Amino acid sequence: MKKTSLGLMTAVLISACGSGNATAPATQNDQDPTVQKTTMKNDLLQEWTGPYGGVPAFDEMKLEDLQPAMEQAMASHLEEVLIISTNPAPPTFENTILAMQKSGEALDRVFTYYGIWSSNMSSPEFREIQQVLAPKISEYSSKISQNKELFERIKAVYEQSQQDPLPSQQQRAVELMYEDFAMEGANLNEADKERYAQINKELSRLYTQFSNNVLAEEENYVVYLEKDQLSGLPESFVKAAAKAAADRGKEGKYAVLNTRSSMDPFLTYSDERELRKEVWDNYYSRGDNEDEYDNKEVIEEILKLRDERVELLGFENYAQWRLQDRMAKTPERAMELMEAVWPAALARVEEEVADMQAVAEAEGKDIVIAPWDYRYYAEKVRQQKYDLESDEVKQYLQLDKLTEALFYTADRIFNYKFTPVPQGTVPVFHEDVKVWEVTHKDTGKHIGLWYLDPYARKGKRSGAWASQYRSHAEMDEQEETVLASNNSNFVKPAQGEPALVSWDDATTFFHEFGHALHFFSSEVKYPILNSGVRDYTEFQSQLLERWLSTDEVINRFLVHHETGEPIPQELVEKIKKASTFNQGFATTEFLASALMDMKLHTTDPSEIDMGTFEKESLDELNMPSEIVMRHRTPHFGHVFSGEGYATGYYGYLWADVLTSDAAEAFREAPGGFYDENVAEKLVKYLFAPRNAMDPAEAYRLFRGRDANIDALMRDRGFPVPSDKE
Ligand SMILES: [Zn+2]
Repeated sequence: MKKTSLGLMTAVLISACGSGNATAPATQNDQDPTVQKTTMKNDLLQEWTGPYGGVPAFDEMKLEDLQPAMEQAMASHLEEVLIISTNPAPPTFENTILAMQKSGEALDRVFTYYGIWSSNMSSPEFREIQQVLAPKISEYSSKISQNKELFERIKAVYEQSQQDPLPSQQQRAVELMYEDFAMEGANLNEADKERYAQINKELSRLYTQFSNNVLAEEENYVVYLEKDQLSGLPESFVKAAAKAAADRGKEGKYAVLNTRSSMDPFLTYSDERELRKEVWDNYYSRGDNEDEYDNKEVIEEILKLRDERVELLGFENYAQWRLQDRMAKTPERAMELMEAVWPAALARVEEEVADMQAVAEAEGKDIVIAPWDYRYYAEKVRQQKYDLESDEVKQYLQLDKLTEALFYTADRIFNYKFTPVPQGTVPVFHEDVKVWEVTHKDTGKHIGLWYLDPYARKGKRSGAWASQYRSHAEMDEQEETVLASNNSNFVKPAQGEPALVSWDDATTFFHEFGHALHFFSSEVKYPILNSGVRDYTEFQSQLLERWLSTDEVINRFLVHHETGEPIPQELVEKIKKASTFNQGFATTEFLASALMDMKLHTTDPSEIDMGTFEKESLDELNMPSEIVMRHRTPHFGHVFSGEGYATGYYGYLWADVLTSDAAEAFREAPGGFYDENVAEKLVKYLFAPRNAMDPAEAYRLFRGRDANIDALMRDRGFPVPSDKE
């Protein structure tokens, strides 16, 4: 949890792909709910005791303890910080950087429980407390980030280290901590600081407005279907739509909501072209309806304020400021990557459209493929070319066997051994949660504990994610061992039945386990070195997905739940082939958004008229008329409902390039995906250093060169540039 000097704040905000904790929502609600204040000992604040270096007391969590515990822990962390910042001794690494890294332990512990309530065990009562705590947490973290004396001390250590470098991990820790503060304006003079704070306040108001507008547009445009308009729709969709309509007081009708999870299957399956157009229009016009919820002016304001803010810090544009600590480092390098992939994606779209046009004509339809036809005809092409019964695949994907497959991979690549802890020795917050001890296979050294919370239940957030309750560090004599968790939403099977999962879910299971392995393999001394780099931190977990389809895993673990037969090779081939299907569409809709994100933040905002900018930019790119951006600007929440992914959307592709390129390193090796040499380098350079090493340098050490896009192009079934003359 102690990811950076700003501790909690950053830990809350940097949560990639669902690893970490959910972001606390901004709130104006200042009223305390009736929280029972207790003078008795607060369990949430207590040191973790018991085996394995101490474990959270998940069996003693009481919600009424949460608010007082958080308040007390924040206050005592601020006291610790005050002692550091007012230390009369000259600043040193030990009395400033190390002292900051060691501070806030109680808060880290409370925040672990907070994370469980927020993600695994939520309730209306918790959300009420969360609303009360949100502004207090934000006040607490600004008190640290705006502590001038503290920054002066960090800066002094930093400047000293630039003259006279420290040992590498110390040096990196100083630099990361200094940059955290400097990027947020700690170096500004008083007048600029005031303006900076004003801008941030104004921006946070605009972010909320942006999100609220999108939300209103999602709620205000529901399409209600009659019974005779359901043609083509799967039964599960119809059922959900009937319930959604009933929930909105329209019993007997079927609601297509204005959200991706409703729009996407509707456009894929509905035979009603006019309705598809209506649903498509509603979805892609969110925030662009020239009404009170229109976001175009909000965006113009946001862009101007962001630009003004980074100008105070001496940067030319927002993208330049944002990318300085990313692996890409500059907007130019990110653009270069996107522009290299773009033409191949467009060429593939042409082929896809031709395939779909042929299907439409064969059906006797006199139409030209429009954006609201793409998913529908793509699905027909998919059925013809790659017919895959997802139910058939599922018979070979048992959750227990997949869990064994994870352990097998960890054994072969990381030399880890997973052993179930005896029931009752480690407290859990729900009976479904199981715990394993992780040790080194050869030395028997204890590495940490792995908690698995596999099944869906009420109050648990959707999707899958990884988190850590305690991260690796070696600040004192004793090494902190890792407490990591994986969380999914598989449907709990009946007693004695196997839990069967889809191929996608099995892939995600491997992905999230990759995050856990990244946590376990950390060899850093200071917690700040565990921090994530936005365009790099998904790469390790994406790479781990590749082991699911290795022969070793297939033959041992992907076996039929009744016959025990391994999944047939031709079924695996079909799955692999299907993965390149529709990549023209997927890559183009993604890249259009990612390119727009970068263009918006590298163009002088005084020249941006949101009424025309998007269209003009897309025209320049030769955007195909059959596809729309995955997220059009007026509802691009990644970029405008906060700053988490602003000029960061390219990062998914960046991580994909690394993933494909690293996977080829294995494929080319004599031992393939289980090659011991490559595996050793993988762990040593790409997992263990976390953020203790510059990611680009780490990658070069692994691969002997920078990553290039060839492998990605092959994975997506695109022509490879270097294969040509
Ligand atoms: Zn992830």
